Amino acid sequence: MRIVLLGPPGAGKGTQAQVIAGRFGIPAISTGDIFRANVSGQTELGQQAKTYMDAGDLVPDEITVAMVKDRLAEPDAKVGFLLDGFPRTIAQAEQLRDSLSDLGHRIDCVLELVVDEDELVRRLSGRRVVVDGKPVQRDDDRPDTVRHRLEVYREQTAPVAGFYEEAGLLSRIDAIGEVEEVTERAMDACGASQPGQSTAS
Ligand code: AMP
Repeated sequence: MRIVLLGPPGAGKGTQAQVIAGRFGIPAISTGDIFRANVSGQTELGQQAKTYMDAGDLVPDEITVAMVKDRLAEPDAKVGFLLDGFPRTIAQAEQLRDSLSDLGHRIDCVLELVVDEDELVRRLSGRRVVVDGKPVQRDDDRPDTVRHRLEVYREQTAPVAGFYEEAGLLSRIDAIGEVEEVTERAMDACGASQPGQSTAS
């Protein structure tokens, strides 16, 4: 199963990515997490990405696509994968399609988590991550950066949903509600039955 998970910042992509990927037995690959690990590890990639991330802008396609290709070439991604936070531009979506097609593969299911913008701002301004055992606000979760990230999503990433809709792959998922409810909507959309349910018709 090869899944793309789309949705604005604050829609709950990270949480759903872990749960859905776990249910399918595939790795959840988050480009944001890979960039953040590189920033903390002070790698060259981290240094290249940091300025864009701090400003709430997208890291250039060239850098991001090369990083994703490397990650998808790792052995655990052979059985499938769930991409969280990639593609975020039409150019990334096209390059992903082309590099998968070179390998005889394609994306099977695209999920877009839908949450209205007031709720997103509310969730992001209250969000904390744990660093060294302490809850801290991510630099890019500060209110003015949040507003900018939502603008970037509207302008650059929302069209990616249209790209997949045209390909007949997109399911829009109402992402308001309990984590488990949203997961079940997503699993249904990717054609997976609930645990214990018979698939016989
Ligand atoms: P996220 O954790 O997915 O919200 O990503 C955090 C930041 O990493 C984004 O605001 C971007 O600066 C960068 N980033 C993550 N994924 C991508 C991507 N597919 N293309 C460009 N930049 C990305």
